[in-house]
Amino acid sequence: MYRVWLHKGLEPVSDNPLPGQLALFSVTALCKPDPERLKTLRAEAILCHKCDLRKTCKQVVLGEGKVDRPLIAFVGEAPGINEDAQGLPLVGTAGDLLNRMIQAMQLKREDMYFVNTVGCHPPDRSPTREEVASCREWFIGQLRFIQPQMLVALGAAAANVLLESKKPEALTKLRGSWHEWQGLPLRVTFSPAHLHRNPLDKAYAWVDLQEVLKRLKLQAT
Ligand code: URA
Repeated sequence: MYRVWLHKGLEPVSDNPLPGQLALFSVTALCKPDPERLKTLRAEAILCHKCDLRKTCKQVVLGEGKVDRPLIAFVGEAPGINEDAQGLPLVGTAGDLLNRMIQAMQLKREDMYFVNTVGCHPPDRSPTREEVASCREWFIGQLRFIQPQMLVALGAAAANVLLESKKPEALTKLRGSWHEWQGLPLRVTFSPAHLHRNPLDKAYAWVDLQEVLKRLKLQAT
């Protein structure tokens, strides 16, 4: 039962709630980052062998960045070859492009958190639904324990995992409006890999990032 709450982003008011207390969820408990639980989660996650991806990847790639209410959590789909080799998310070509996007927004990489929906590099393909489900507790757990001020999903795959879409939505449908993830604002834009292949779409990505900036400013005032 506790895991259900965990995945829904709700915490029981006590560790051993009585049946009558089930309605007393404490959503406000969500608003505090929890670096200790993040540390424990990371220690467990790097030992994970729940799916076969761990057999072929070099290492588990967990999130990286500011762990105490980062301005933005950027969410990618899965580590690529560079990430697998370095043990860090969104590095290499994708990371370079993302860094440039962050710089263009006049923000700093060290104020962000970077994470993928799965921690292990899938060989030349997207992760399967089962692989994403296996990794969910590590992925969602990280986000819950850092409590970002906002999330930006990099591509439809990452967005559909966050939104738990029954039927995956196309990027064209997901872009252009605000979504919500466990009470936090979520914007969807192109993945850096897509932008690398389709540089003309960078102009559209910039429009998305302008909306993110507007919202951050609104939140700050
Ligand atoms: N690198 C990552 O870490 N994630 C992506 O989604 C793409 C490249």
